Amino acid sequence: MHFDAEFDVLVVGAGGCGLTAAIAAKSSDQKIQVAILEKTNRLMGNTMLSSGSIPAANTRFQRAAGIQDSPEAMIDDLNHITGEHDVTDITHKLAFISAELIEWLVDVANVDMTLVETYKHIGHSVHRLHSPPSRRGADLMHDLSRTADSMEIPIAYGNAVTELVVSAEGAVTGLVTKTIDGRVTTLSAKSVILATNGFGANRELLSQFCPSISHANYGGSPSSQGEAITWGVGLGAALANMGAYQAHASLAEPHGSLVTWTIIEKGGIIVDSRGCRFGNETIGYSAFAELELEQQGPFYMIADSKVRDVTANGQPEYAELCNTGGVVQCHTLGELASHLEMNENIISQTINEAVFSASSGQPDKFGRSNWGLGPLSAPFCFTRITPALFHTQGGLHVDDQARVLRPDGSHIKGLFAGGGAAAGISGLKGGAGYVSGNGLLTALGLGYLAGKSSVTDFYE
Ligand SMILES: Cc1cc2nc3c(=O)[nH]c(=O)nc-3n(C[C@H](O)[C@H](O)[C@H](O)COP(=O)(O)OP(=O)(O)OC[C@H]3O[C@@H](n4cnc5c(N)ncnc54)[C@H](O)[C@@H]3O)c2cc1C
Repeated sequence: MHFDAEFDVLVVGAGGCGLTAAIAAKSSDQKIQVAILEKTNRLMGNTMLSSGSIPAANTRFQRAAGIQDSPEAMIDDLNHITGEHDVTDITHKLAFISAELIEWLVDVANVDMTLVETYKHIGHSVHRLHSPPSRRGADLMHDLSRTADSMEIPIAYGNAVTELVVSAEGAVTGLVTKTIDGRVTTLSAKSVILATNGFGANRELLSQFCPSISHANYGGSPSSQGEAITWGVGLGAALANMGAYQAHASLAEPHGSLVTWTIIEKGGIIVDSRGCRFGNETIGYSAFAELELEQQGPFYMIADSKVRDVTANGQPEYAELCNTGGVVQCHTLGELASHLEMNENIISQTINEAVFSASSGQPDKFGRSNWGLGPLSAPFCFTRITPALFHTQGGLHVDDQARVLRPDGSHIKGLFAGGGAAAGISGLKGGAGYVSGNGLLTALGLGYLAGKSSVTDFYE
Protein backbone atom coordinates (compact mmCIF):
# COMPACT_ATOMS: atom_id res chain seq x y z
CA MET A 1 0.00 0.00 0.00
CA HIS A 2 1.39 3.41 -0.95
CA PHE A 3 1.04 6.21 1.62
CA ASP A 4 1.55 9.87 0.69
CA ALA A 5 2.64 10.73 4.24
CA GLU A 6 3.05 9.05 7.62
CA PHE A 7 1.71 10.12 11.01
CA ASP A 8 1.51 8.72 14.49
CA VAL A 9 -2.03 9.90 15.30
CA LEU A 10 -4.63 11.13 12.81
CA VAL A 11 -7.82 12.73 14.09
CA VAL A 12 -10.89 12.88 11.84
CA GLY A 13 -12.90 16.03 12.55
CA ALA A 14 -11.91 19.39 14.07
CA GLY A 15 -14.74 19.72 16.59
CA GLY A 16 -14.57 19.75 20.38
CA CYS A 17 -13.74 16.05 20.47
CA GLY A 18 -11.13 16.14 17.71
CA LEU A 19 -9.25 19.20 18.98
CA THR A 20 -9.22 17.84 22.55
CA ALA A 21 -8.01 14.44 21.35
CA ALA A 22 -5.20 15.96 19.28
CA ILE A 23 -4.03 18.21 22.13
CA ALA A 24 -4.20 15.30 24.62
CA ALA A 25 -2.18 13.05 22.28
CA LYS A 26 0.47 15.68 21.58
CA SER A 27 0.80 16.72 25.21
CA SER A 28 1.35 13.05 26.15
CA ASP A 29 4.38 12.98 23.88
CA GLN A 30 5.66 16.14 22.15
CA LYS A 31 7.71 14.12 19.64
CA ILE A 32 4.82 12.37 17.91
CA GLN A 33 3.28 13.55 14.63
CA VAL A 34 -0.41 14.43 15.13
CA ALA A 35 -2.70 15.97 12.50
CA ILE A 36 -6.41 16.70 12.13
CA LEU A 37 -8.43 16.22 8.92
CA GLU A 38 -11.51 18.43 8.63
CA LYS A 39 -14.03 18.18 5.80
CA THR A 40 -15.32 21.77 6.00
CA ASN A 41 -13.15 24.78 5.25
CA ARG A 42 -13.43 26.33 8.72
CA LEU A 43 -14.45 25.40 12.27
CA MET A 44 -18.21 24.82 11.98
CA GLY A 45 -19.25 21.63 13.80
CA ASN A 46 -21.79 21.30 16.59
CA THR A 47 -19.37 22.37 19.32
CA MET A 48 -19.23 25.80 17.66
CA LEU A 49 -23.04 26.03 17.94
CA SER A 50 -23.26 24.85 21.54
CA SER A 51 -23.26 26.90 24.71
CA GLY A 52 -20.05 25.17 25.71
CA SER A 53 -21.35 23.73 28.99
CA ILE A 54 -19.55 20.67 30.38
CA PRO A 55 -20.59 19.00 33.66
CA ALA A 56 -17.91 17.94 36.13
CA ALA A 57 -17.95 16.80 39.73
CA ASN A 58 -15.68 18.06 42.52
CA THR A 59 -13.62 20.54 40.49
CA ARG A 60 -11.51 23.17 42.22
CA PHE A 61 -13.95 25.75 40.80
CA GLN A 62 -16.86 24.08 42.62
CA ARG A 63 -14.85 23.83 45.84
CA ALA A 64 -13.94 27.54 45.62
CA ALA A 65 -17.66 28.31 45.28
CA GLY A 66 -18.46 26.15 48.31
CA ILE A 67 -20.27 23.48 46.28
CA GLN A 68 -20.01 19.92 47.53
CA ASP A 69 -20.08 17.37 44.75
CA SER A 70 -18.70 13.94 43.92
CA PRO A 71 -18.48 11.60 40.89
CA GLU A 72 -20.90 9.28 42.72
CA ALA A 73 -23.50 12.07 43.03
CA MET A 74 -23.02 12.90 39.35
CA ILE A 75 -23.52 9.24 38.35
CA ASP A 76 -26.70 9.09 40.47
CA ASP A 77 -28.04 12.24 38.75
CA LEU A 78 -27.23 10.91 35.25
CA ASN A 79 -28.62 7.42 35.87
CA HIS A 80 -31.77 8.82 37.47
CA ILE A 81 -32.67 10.53 34.16
CA THR A 82 -31.42 7.91 31.68
CA GLY A 83 -32.29 4.63 33.38
CA GLU A 84 -30.42 1.53 32.22
CA HIS A 85 -28.55 1.79 28.92
CA ASP A 86 -25.81 0.13 26.88
CA VAL A 87 -22.77 2.07 28.19
CA THR A 88 -23.23 2.76 31.91
CA ASP A 89 -19.50 1.98 32.28
CA ILE A 90 -18.79 5.11 30.21
CA THR A 91 -21.09 7.22 32.44
CA HIS A 92 -19.01 5.98 35.38
CA LYS A 93 -15.65 6.65 33.70
CA LEU A 94 -16.61 10.14 32.51
CA ALA A 95 -17.94 11.16 35.92
CA PHE A 96 -14.68 10.01 37.56
CA ILE A 97 -12.43 11.90 35.11
CA SER A 98 -14.69 14.96 34.79
CA ALA A 99 -12.87 17.16 37.31
CA GLU A 100 -9.48 16.16 35.87
CA LEU A 101 -10.82 17.00 32.39
CA ILE A 102 -12.02 20.51 33.32
CA GLU A 103 -8.80 21.32 35.16
CA TRP A 104 -6.71 19.95 32.26
CA LEU A 105 -8.73 22.06 29.80
CA VAL A 106 -7.96 25.18 31.84
CA ASP A 107 -4.34 24.40 32.81
CA VAL A 108 -2.99 22.57 29.74
CA ALA A 109 -5.34 23.33 26.86
CA ASN A 110 -5.62 27.01 27.91
CA VAL A 111 -9.41 27.13 27.72
CA ASP A 112 -11.03 29.96 29.66
CA MET A 113 -13.78 28.34 31.74
CA THR A 114 -15.86 29.27 34.73
CA LEU A 115 -18.40 27.44 36.86
CA VAL A 116 -21.95 28.34 35.85
CA GLU A 117 -23.61 29.49 39.07
CA THR A 118 -26.73 31.13 37.63
CA TYR A 119 -28.40 27.91 36.46
CA LYS A 120 -27.99 24.15 36.96
CA HIS A 121 -29.98 23.03 33.92
CA ILE A 122 -31.57 19.69 33.37
CA GLY A 123 -30.73 16.74 35.62
CA HIS A 124 -28.02 18.21 37.85
CA SER A 125 -28.71 18.44 41.57
CA VAL A 126 -25.85 20.93 42.15
CA HIS A 127 -24.08 23.62 40.10
CA ARG A 128 -21.85 21.42 37.97
CA LEU A 129 -21.71 22.96 34.49
CA HIS A 130 -18.46 24.66 33.47
CA SER A 131 -18.32 26.81 30.35
CA PRO A 132 -16.56 29.79 28.72
CA PRO A 133 -17.53 33.05 30.46
CA SER A 134 -19.50 34.05 27.33
CA ARG A 135 -21.45 30.72 27.53
CA ARG A 136 -20.60 30.16 23.86
CA GLY A 137 -19.10 26.99 22.42
CA ALA A 138 -17.40 29.10 19.76
CA ASP A 139 -15.10 30.56 22.43
CA LEU A 140 -14.28 27.07 23.72
CA MET A 141 -13.39 26.08 20.13
CA HIS A 142 -11.25 29.15 19.49
CA ASP A 143 -9.27 28.52 22.68
CA LEU A 144 -8.73 24.87 21.70
CA SER A 145 -7.70 25.70 18.14
CA ARG A 146 -5.25 28.37 19.35
CA THR A 147 -3.65 25.76 21.62
CA ALA A 148 -3.51 23.18 18.80
CA ASP A 149 -1.85 25.83 16.67
CA SER A 150 0.73 26.66 19.35
CA MET A 151 1.54 22.94 19.63
CA GLU A 152 2.06 22.82 15.85
CA ILE A 153 -0.81 20.39 15.27
CA PRO A 154 -1.89 20.99 11.65
CA ILE A 155 -5.60 21.10 10.75
CA ALA A 156 -6.09 20.16 7.09
CA TYR A 157 -9.34 21.98 6.24
CA GLY A 158 -11.37 20.97 3.19
CA ASN A 159 -10.18 17.37 3.50
CA ALA A 160 -13.10 14.96 3.95
CA VAL A 161 -12.00 11.53 5.10
CA THR A 162 -13.71 9.08 2.77
CA GLU A 163 -12.46 5.71 4.01
CA LEU A 164 -10.24 3.98 6.53
CA VAL A 165 -7.24 1.86 5.54
CA VAL A 166 -7.26 -1.55 7.19
CA SER A 167 -4.47 -4.15 7.37
CA ALA A 168 -4.94 -7.83 6.55
CA GLU A 169 -5.09 -8.45 10.34
CA GLY A 170 -8.04 -6.05 10.67
CA ALA A 171 -6.11 -3.17 12.29
CA VAL A 172 -6.74 0.41 11.13
CA THR A 173 -3.48 1.72 9.68
CA GLY A 174 -4.49 4.92 7.93
CA LEU A 175 -7.14 6.77 5.98
CA VAL A 176 -8.01 8.31 2.64
CA THR A 177 -9.01 11.98 2.26
CA LYS A 178 -10.54 13.84 -0.66
CA THR A 179 -10.55 17.60 -1.22
CA ILE A 180 -13.49 19.47 -2.78
CA ASP A 181 -11.57 19.65 -6.09
CA GLY A 182 -11.13 15.86 -6.04
CA ARG A 183 -7.50 15.49 -4.86
CA VAL A 184 -7.13 12.14 -3.08
CA THR A 185 -4.45 11.54 -0.41
CA THR A 186 -3.68 8.35 1.50
CA LEU A 187 -2.08 8.77 4.93
CA SER A 188 -0.77 6.18 7.35
CA ALA A 189 -1.24 6.36 11.12
CA LYS A 190 -0.56 4.16 14.10
CA SER A 191 -3.85 5.39 15.59
CA VAL A 192 -6.94 6.95 14.01
CA ILE A 193 -9.44 8.84 16.19
CA LEU A 194 -12.97 9.27 14.81
CA ALA A 195 -14.36 12.63 15.97
CA THR A 196 -16.87 13.24 13.17
CA ASN A 197 -19.95 13.74 15.42
CA GLY A 198 -23.22 11.84 14.90
CA PHE A 199 -25.80 11.54 12.12
CA GLY A 200 -28.22 14.40 12.91
CA ALA A 201 -27.95 15.75 9.36
CA ASN A 202 -28.46 12.38 7.69
CA ARG A 203 -32.22 11.76 7.23
CA GLU A 204 -31.65 8.18 6.05
CA LEU A 205 -29.74 7.14 9.19
CA LEU A 206 -32.24 9.08 11.32
CA SER A 207 -35.15 7.16 9.81
CA GLN A 208 -33.30 3.93 10.53
CA PHE A 209 -32.28 4.64 14.13
CA CYS A 210 -34.39 7.57 15.44
CA PRO A 211 -37.61 7.47 13.36
CA SER A 212 -39.68 9.59 15.78
CA ILE A 213 -37.44 12.65 15.24
CA SER A 214 -36.44 12.04 11.63
CA HIS A 215 -38.79 14.70 10.21
CA ALA A 216 -38.16 17.41 12.83
CA ASN A 217 -36.25 20.63 12.19
CA TYR A 218 -32.54 20.16 12.64
CA GLY A 219 -30.59 22.75 14.63
CA GLY A 220 -27.10 21.25 14.38
CA SER A 221 -24.24 21.32 11.88
CA PRO A 222 -24.85 20.05 8.32
CA SER A 223 -21.53 18.20 8.51
CA SER A 224 -22.93 15.57 10.94
CA GLN A 225 -23.52 12.91 8.28
CA GLY A 226 -22.63 9.83 10.33
CA GLU A 227 -19.64 8.56 8.33
CA ALA A 228 -18.09 7.03 11.46
CA ILE A 229 -21.13 4.75 11.86
CA THR A 230 -20.82 3.49 8.30
CA TRP A 231 -17.06 2.90 8.53
CA GLY A 232 -17.37 1.24 11.95
CA VAL A 233 -20.15 -1.09 10.86
CA GLY A 234 -18.06 -2.02 7.81
CA LEU A 235 -15.24 -3.07 10.16
CA GLY A 236 -17.55 -5.13 12.38
CA ALA A 237 -17.81 -2.59 15.22
CA ALA A 238 -20.67 -2.71 17.72
CA LEU A 239 -23.18 0.15 17.94
CA ALA A 240 -24.87 1.26 21.17
CA ASN A 241 -27.71 3.51 22.39
CA MET A 242 -28.60 4.17 18.73
CA GLY A 243 -32.09 5.55 19.36
CA ALA A 244 -30.98 8.32 21.75
CA TYR A 245 -30.69 11.99 20.83
CA GLN A 246 -30.75 15.53 22.17
CA ALA A 247 -33.69 17.57 21.02
CA HIS A 248 -34.50 21.11 22.08
CA ALA A 249 -37.97 22.52 22.65
CA SER A 250 -37.07 26.15 22.12
CA LEU A 251 -35.40 27.23 18.92
CA ALA A 252 -36.51 30.83 18.25
CA GLU A 253 -38.61 31.29 15.10
CA PRO A 254 -37.64 32.75 12.70
CA HIS A 255 -34.34 33.81 14.33
CA GLY A 256 -33.00 30.25 14.60
CA SER A 257 -31.10 30.90 17.83
CA LEU A 258 -31.51 28.86 20.98
CA VAL A 259 -33.86 30.27 23.61
CA THR A 260 -32.17 29.32 26.85
CA TRP A 261 -34.11 27.00 29.18
CA THR A 262 -33.21 29.41 32.00
CA ILE A 263 -36.46 31.19 31.05
CA ILE A 264 -38.36 28.07 32.14
CA GLU A 265 -36.21 27.56 35.23
CA LYS A 266 -36.98 31.14 36.31
CA GLY A 267 -40.76 30.64 35.94
CA GLY A 268 -41.62 30.79 32.20
CA ILE A 269 -44.21 28.56 30.52
CA ILE A 270 -44.83 27.15 27.03
CA VAL A 271 -48.22 27.31 25.31
CA ASP A 272 -49.63 26.02 22.03
CA SER A 273 -51.37 28.07 19.36
CA ARG A 274 -54.61 28.15 21.42
CA GLY A 275 -52.81 29.51 24.49
CA CYS A 276 -52.95 26.23 26.47
CA ARG A 277 -50.10 24.53 28.30
CA PHE A 278 -49.71 20.82 27.53
CA GLY A 279 -47.07 19.52 29.97
CA ASN A 280 -44.60 20.12 32.77
CA GLU A 281 -41.89 22.24 31.18
CA THR A 282 -39.40 21.41 33.96
CA ILE A 283 -38.93 17.88 32.59
CA GLY A 284 -36.26 19.56 30.43
CA TYR A 285 -35.77 20.93 26.93
CA SER A 286 -35.02 17.60 25.29
CA ALA A 287 -37.93 15.68 26.86
CA PHE A 288 -40.32 18.61 26.34
CA ALA A 289 -39.41 18.73 22.63
CA GLU A 290 -40.91 15.24 22.35
CA LEU A 291 -44.20 16.59 23.76
CA GLU A 292 -44.15 19.46 21.26
CA LEU A 293 -43.60 17.05 18.38
CA GLU A 294 -46.89 15.35 19.34
CA GLN A 295 -48.82 18.68 19.16
CA GLN A 296 -49.74 21.15 16.51
CA GLY A 297 -47.41 24.24 16.54
CA PRO A 298 -46.63 27.10 16.62
CA PHE A 299 -45.51 27.27 20.26
CA TYR A 300 -44.74 30.28 22.43
CA MET A 301 -42.47 30.63 25.45
CA ILE A 302 -44.05 33.15 27.79
CA ALA A 303 -42.33 34.88 30.71
CA ASP A 304 -42.27 38.35 32.20
CA SER A 305 -39.86 41.27 32.16
CA LYS A 306 -38.09 40.24 35.40
CA VAL A 307 -37.35 36.73 34.07
CA ARG A 308 -36.24 38.22 30.75
CA ASP A 309 -33.91 40.79 32.33
CA VAL A 310 -32.29 38.41 34.84
CA THR A 311 -31.66 35.92 32.03
CA ALA A 312 -30.36 38.44 29.50
CA ASN A 313 -27.94 39.74 32.10
CA GLY A 314 -25.95 36.47 32.24
CA GLN A 315 -26.45 35.06 28.73
CA PRO A 316 -25.32 37.14 25.73
CA GLU A 317 -27.08 34.94 23.14
CA TYR A 318 -30.43 35.55 24.81
CA ALA A 319 -29.61 39.26 25.23
CA GLU A 320 -28.94 39.37 21.49
CA LEU A 321 -32.34 37.74 20.81
CA CYS A 322 -33.99 40.43 22.97
CA ASN A 323 -32.14 43.17 21.08
CA THR A 324 -33.09 41.80 17.67
CA GLY A 325 -36.83 41.62 18.36
CA GLY A 326 -37.08 37.92 19.18
CA VAL A 327 -38.57 38.63 22.62
CA VAL A 328 -41.74 40.73 22.40
CA GLN A 329 -43.03 42.66 25.43
CA CYS A 330 -46.79 43.08 26.14
CA HIS A 331 -48.08 45.27 28.94
CA THR A 332 -51.36 43.43 29.51
CA LEU A 333 -52.90 40.00 28.94
CA GLY A 334 -55.15 41.64 26.34
CA GLU A 335 -52.13 42.90 24.41
CA LEU A 336 -50.50 39.45 24.67
CA ALA A 337 -53.67 37.77 23.34
CA SER A 338 -53.92 40.23 20.49
CA HIS A 339 -50.23 39.82 19.49
CA LEU A 340 -50.56 36.03 19.50
CA GLU A 341 -54.01 36.08 17.88
CA MET A 342 -55.38 33.97 20.77
CA ASN A 343 -58.64 34.01 22.66
CA GLU A 344 -57.96 36.37 25.61
CA ASN A 345 -59.99 34.22 28.04
CA ILE A 346 -57.95 31.11 27.25
CA ILE A 347 -54.50 32.68 27.56
CA SER A 348 -55.58 34.60 30.68
CA GLN A 349 -56.81 31.40 32.30
CA THR A 350 -53.55 29.62 31.44
CA ILE A 351 -51.44 32.36 32.98
CA ASN A 352 -53.68 32.76 36.02
CA GLU A 353 -53.47 29.01 36.72
CA ALA A 354 -49.66 29.16 36.50
CA VAL A 355 -49.62 32.20 38.80
CA PHE A 356 -51.85 30.35 41.28
CA SER A 357 -49.59 27.31 41.33
CA ALA A 358 -46.43 29.43 41.71
CA SER A 359 -48.02 31.36 44.60
CA SER A 360 -49.51 28.37 46.40
CA GLY A 361 -46.46 26.13 46.16
CA GLN A 362 -48.77 23.26 45.15
CA PRO A 363 -47.86 21.16 42.08
CA ASP A 364 -50.07 22.12 39.13
CA LYS A 365 -52.13 19.69 37.04
CA PHE A 366 -48.98 18.71 35.07
CA GLY A 367 -46.98 18.08 38.26
CA ARG A 368 -44.88 21.25 38.01
CA SER A 369 -43.85 22.73 41.35
CA ASN A 370 -40.71 24.69 40.48
CA TRP A 371 -41.37 28.32 39.50
CA GLY A 372 -37.94 29.96 39.85
CA LEU A 373 -38.49 33.65 40.55
CA GLY A 374 -42.14 33.07 41.48
CA PRO A 375 -45.47 34.03 39.83
CA LEU A 376 -45.37 35.75 36.44
CA SER A 377 -46.66 39.33 36.36
CA ALA A 378 -47.13 42.09 33.76
CA PRO A 379 -45.40 43.22 31.64
CA PHE A 380 -45.26 39.80 29.93
CA CYS A 381 -43.03 38.79 27.06
CA PHE A 382 -43.11 35.99 24.53
CA THR A 383 -40.92 34.27 21.94
CA ARG A 384 -42.23 32.08 19.14
CA ILE A 385 -40.40 28.74 19.31
CA THR A 386 -40.17 25.44 17.51
CA PRO A 387 -38.74 22.03 18.53
CA ALA A 388 -35.60 20.78 16.83
CA LEU A 389 -33.17 17.88 16.83
CA PHE A 390 -29.72 19.06 17.97
CA HIS A 391 -27.63 15.93 17.80
CA THR A 392 -27.78 12.14 17.96
CA GLN A 393 -26.39 10.32 20.96
CA GLY A 394 -25.99 6.78 19.63
CA GLY A 395 -22.79 5.60 18.00
CA LEU A 396 -19.79 3.29 18.05
CA HIS A 397 -19.47 1.26 21.22
CA VAL A 398 -16.18 2.21 22.89
CA ASP A 399 -14.45 1.05 26.06
CA ASP A 400 -13.16 3.30 28.85
CA GLN A 401 -10.07 4.11 26.78
CA ALA A 402 -12.26 5.16 23.83
CA ARG A 403 -11.18 2.11 21.78
CA VAL A 404 -13.82 0.96 19.28
CA LEU A 405 -15.26 -2.42 20.25
CA ARG A 406 -16.66 -5.38 18.36
CA PRO A 407 -19.81 -7.14 19.62
CA ASP A 408 -17.62 -9.79 21.32
CA GLY A 409 -15.88 -7.10 23.42
CA SER A 410 -12.55 -7.19 21.55
CA HIS A 411 -11.28 -3.85 20.22
CA ILE A 412 -10.37 -2.89 16.67
CA LYS A 413 -6.64 -2.17 16.79
CA GLY A 414 -5.71 1.40 15.91
CA LEU A 415 -9.27 2.77 16.05
CA PHE A 416 -10.69 5.18 18.65
CA ALA A 417 -13.87 7.26 18.77
CA GLY A 418 -15.42 10.01 20.84
CA GLY A 419 -18.10 12.68 20.86
CA GLY A 420 -21.10 12.13 18.60
CA ALA A 421 -19.26 9.37 16.73
CA ALA A 422 -19.31 7.18 19.86
CA ALA A 423 -22.24 5.89 21.90
CA GLY A 424 -23.35 8.57 24.35
CA ILE A 425 -24.67 8.37 27.90
CA SER A 426 -28.24 9.62 27.31
CA GLY A 427 -30.20 6.40 27.56
CA LEU A 428 -31.24 3.82 25.02
CA LYS A 429 -33.62 5.88 22.92
CA GLY A 430 -35.53 9.13 22.58
CA GLY A 431 -34.75 12.60 23.89
CA ALA A 432 -35.88 12.25 27.50
CA GLY A 433 -32.60 10.72 28.70
CA TYR A 434 -30.52 13.75 27.77
CA VAL A 435 -28.97 15.55 30.74
CA SER A 436 -27.47 19.01 30.10
CA GLY A 437 -23.86 18.75 29.08
CA ASN A 438 -24.00 15.06 28.02
CA GLY A 439 -23.00 16.08 24.47
CA LEU A 440 -19.82 17.92 25.38
CA LEU A 441 -18.93 15.57 28.24
CA THR A 442 -18.73 12.68 25.78
CA ALA A 443 -17.05 14.90 23.16
CA LEU A 444 -14.30 16.36 25.31
CA GLY A 445 -14.17 13.50 27.83
CA LEU A 446 -13.85 10.70 25.28
CA GLY A 447 -11.62 12.97 23.15
CA TYR A 448 -9.28 13.39 26.14
CA LEU A 449 -9.26 9.63 26.79
CA ALA A 450 -8.84 8.77 23.10
CA GLY A 451 -5.95 11.23 22.70
CA LYS A 452 -4.05 9.78 25.66
CA SER A 453 -4.73 6.11 24.92
CA SER A 454 -4.04 6.48 21.18
CA VAL A 455 -0.41 7.20 22.09
CA THR A 456 0.05 4.51 24.74
CA ASP A 457 -1.65 1.97 22.48
CA PHE A 458 1.03 2.09 19.80
CA TYR A 459 3.87 1.77 22.33
CA GLU A 460 2.34 -1.46 23.67
C1 LIG B 1 -27.37 24.51 19.20
C2 LIG B 1 -26.69 23.44 20.00
C3 LIG B 1 -26.40 23.67 21.35
C4 LIG B 1 -25.77 22.68 22.11
N1 LIG B 1 -25.39 22.98 23.40
C5 LIG B 1 -24.72 22.03 24.14
C6 LIG B 1 -24.20 22.32 25.46
O1 LIG B 1 -24.26 23.44 25.95
N2 LIG B 1 -23.61 21.31 26.14
C7 LIG B 1 -23.45 20.07 25.60
O2 LIG B 1 -22.93 19.19 26.25
N3 LIG B 1 -23.83 19.80 24.32
C8 LIG B 1 -24.45 20.75 23.58
N4 LIG B 1 -24.82 20.46 22.29
C9 LIG B 1 -24.36 19.19 21.72
C10 LIG B 1 -22.87 19.31 21.40
O3 LIG B 1 -22.66 20.46 20.62
C11 LIG B 1 -22.34 18.07 20.67
O4 LIG B 1 -22.70 16.91 21.37
C12 LIG B 1 -20.80 18.13 20.58
O5 LIG B 1 -20.42 19.40 20.09
C13 LIG B 1 -20.25 17.06 19.68
O6 LIG B 1 -18.87 17.30 19.51
P1 LIG B 1 -18.05 16.56 18.36
O7 LIG B 1 -16.65 17.03 18.44
O8 LIG B 1 -18.36 15.12 18.42
O9 LIG B 1 -18.73 17.11 17.01
P2 LIG B 1 -18.54 18.47 16.20
O10 LIG B 1 -18.23 19.61 17.08
O11 LIG B 1 -19.74 18.57 15.31
O12 LIG B 1 -17.26 18.19 15.33
C14 LIG B 1 -17.24 17.20 14.31
C15 LIG B 1 -16.34 17.68 13.19
O13 LIG B 1 -16.06 16.60 12.31
C16 LIG B 1 -16.10 17.07 10.97
N5 LIG B 1 -16.34 15.93 10.08
C17 LIG B 1 -17.49 15.21 9.95
N6 LIG B 1 -17.32 14.24 9.04
C18 LIG B 1 -16.03 14.33 8.58
C19 LIG B 1 -15.27 13.61 7.62
N7 LIG B 1 -15.77 12.59 6.92
N8 LIG B 1 -13.97 13.98 7.40
C20 LIG B 1 -13.43 15.03 8.08
N9 LIG B 1 -14.13 15.77 8.98
C21 LIG B 1 -15.40 15.41 9.24
C22 LIG B 1 -17.23 18.09 11.00
O14 LIG B 1 -17.18 18.95 9.90
C23 LIG B 1 -16.99 18.78 12.34
O15 LIG B 1 -16.11 19.87 12.22
C24 LIG B 1 -25.45 21.44 21.52
C25 LIG B 1 -25.75 21.20 20.16
C26 LIG B 1 -26.35 22.19 19.40
C27 LIG B 1 -26.64 21.93 17.95
